[in-house]
Amino acid sequence: MLYQRSSALFADAQNYIPGGVNSPVRAFKSVGGTPIFISKAEGAYIYDEDGRDYVDYINSWGPMIIGHTHPEVLSATVEQMKKGFSFGTPTELETEIAKLITSVVPNVDMVRMVNSGTEACMSAIRLARGYTNRDKIVKFEGCYHGHSDSFLIKAGSGAATFGNPNSPGVTQGTAKDTLLAEYNNLESVKTLFEQNKGEIAAIIVEPIAGNMGCVVPKEGFLEGLRTLCTENGALLIFDEVMTGFRQAMGGAQERLNINADIVAFGKVIGGGFPVGAFAARKEIMSHLAPLGPVYQAGTLSGNPIAMRAGFTTLNIINNDRELFNRIDKTTEILDIEISKILAEKGIAHHTNRLGSMFSVFFTEDKDINNFNDVATKCNHETFNKFFHHLLSNQVYIAPSGYETWFISDAIKDAEINKTLEAVRSFEL
Ligand code: PMP
Repeated sequence: MLYQRSSALFADAQNYIPGGVNSPVRAFKSVGGTPIFISKAEGAYIYDEDGRDYVDYINSWGPMIIGHTHPEVLSATVEQMKKGFSFGTPTELETEIAKLITSVVPNVDMVRMVNSGTEACMSAIRLARGYTNRDKIVKFEGCYHGHSDSFLIKAGSGAATFGNPNSPGVTQGTAKDTLLAEYNNLESVKTLFEQNKGEIAAIIVEPIAGNMGCVVPKEGFLEGLRTLCTENGALLIFDEVMTGFRQAMGGAQERLNINADIVAFGKVIGGGFPVGAFAARKEIMSHLAPLGPVYQAGTLSGNPIAMRAGFTTLNIINNDRELFNRIDKTTEILDIEISKILAEKGIAHHTNRLGSMFSVFFTEDKDINNFNDVATKCNHETFNKFFHHLLSNQVYIAPSGYETWFISDAIKDAEINKTLEAVRSFEL
C-alpha cells in the first residue's frame, strides 16, 4: 500500500490532535485521502514515512525558497544553537537582520520581528489603527492574512477550502470593523470609502494574491488603492508574507513599483523557522511600544536561532542576483509546458502566474480575477483528481484549489521533467 505508514500515523494523530494536524489544510480534508507524513527533506525533495520521495512544490507553504536543508543555513543555525537557544534580551543579530531588511525593502526605516505571518498582520493593523486613530479596515474577499479575529471574515486559504471563511468565535463587534471589498474591483473599495468617511484606518491586501489560488492584480488596481489611501488619510498595508523576498528582494513593492505604508512579512524571512515581521517608515513605527503607546510584544520574538536562519537565508538570496530570474523562469516553463499538455488532452484549464507563484485552475474561463471566480467558475473536483494523480506520481502540490504553487531554486530540469511526465499521464 502506497501510504501505509502515513495512514497509521494519521489514524493515531487524530486521537490526540484535532483533525490529526496542527494547521487545517494539511489534513487533505477537501481533496480526500491520507495526508503524507514527512520524515525529512533535502533540496527539492521531501521524503514520507513510507520512504517515498516527492518533488516539493509546497516548500513549507513558501519559506523554503532556496530548497530544503540548505547547507549554509544549516551550519550557521547549528553554530548559533551552540551559543544558546533563547535569551529574551536584545542581540546584535537582530540589528543586523533589521539593517538588511530596511536596506532592501522600499519605504521602510524600521522593522519589528514577530513569530508568524499572523502576528505580523495582526500587529500591522493595530499599528495602523493606533496611528490613524480610526477603527475600520478594508480587506478583500479571498485574501488571507492569518487567523487573528479581524481577518477571519471571508478569508481565503484553508478557511475558504473548508467553507468556513467566517469563523465562529469572532465577535460581531470585531467583524463589523472589517469592511469587505472584491479583489481587482476598485469601485468596491471606493464605495466603502464613501460610506465610511474618515473611519477607515487601512486597506490590507495581498499585492499578488496566493490564498484564493494565485490571482494577479490587474493593471491599475494597486495604484488605485494607493491613491484612495492617500486621498482619504488611510494607510496601505501590503501583506507580503508570501510575496516578500520571493517576488523580488524588495517584494511586490519593488516588483510592481507601488509604495505601501506598512509591510507585513513571514515565510521566507525565517528560512523555515517561525518568524514574521512588520515594517514601516520611522514616523509610523515610532507609535509602537516602547517608543509609543501601541502595544506589541513577544517572549520569543527575535529568537537567535530563527534570526540566524532568516538572516543567512536572506543574505544568500540578496547575494545571488540571478535567483529571482531563475525561479521565475522555472515557473514560466512549468506553466507553459503544463498548459500545453493539458490543452493537448482537451482538458479545460487556465493558469495565473506572476514570478514564482502560479496556479492551475480547471475552468473554461480565461479570466480568474477574484475569489468569486475561483469559487464558482473552477472545477474543484477536477483539481482534487489532478492533485492525487500528481501525488501518486511523487509530485507534491498544495492540497487545495485555493492555494498557489511555491517554486524553489532547488527545482531543476530533472524535477521539471518528472513533473511534466506526471501531468502527461493525467486523465479526467
Ligand atoms: N498572510 C499571508 C498572505 C499568508 O499567506 C499567510 C499564511 N499562509 C499568513 C498571512 C499567515 O501567516 P502564518 O501562517 O505564518 O501565521
